[in-house]
Amino acid sequence: MNTELRYEGVPGSELKRIRCNGYDDFGNAVVSRTSEEGGEPLRCCLTLAVTGAQITLVSHRPMTAGGPYAEVGPVFVHLTDCGGPAEDGFPIDYRDRQAVLRPYDAAGQMLDGVVAEPGTSETELKRLFEDPAVDTVQVRNVVAGCWNFTVRRQG
Ligand SMILES: [Zn+2]
Repeated sequence: MNTELRYEGVPGSELKRIRCNGYDDFGNAVVSRTSEEGGEPLRCCLTLAVTGAQITLVSHRPMTAGGPYAEVGPVFVHLTDCGGPAEDGFPIDYRDRQAVLRPYDAAGQMLDGVVAEPGTSETELKRLFEDPAVDTVQVRNVVAGCWNFTVRRQG
């Protein structure tokens, strides 16, 4: 089965609201910081920050459906509008990172996840989506567990 997948960071509408308000949706002020060494995973455009980039750390709840598994967590985003992801496919900057792939069904219940070694996330995602019960998969950092982006079937 060849499944076309969609990769979603923080929605543009939410980013616009956060940047306009100066606060995220959970009351945390938008504080400007400079990426010292680069490498922060940015959830606005699904790239890694370059050295000197102006970024901010805000809270985001990736699961819109709510429910007990709908966690709120910290995400780095560009301080100002970056135009969002440039391409539709698996984000290139995230290919060589180890990642936790956490699948959920349509009701937002967590299913069995996997740890993907560097370079294997895309293959592992396709394998997870072979299970029709899988509605979305959250790609997360291995150590901190922070959400990087959500993957779902196209269409
Ligand atoms: Zn960005």
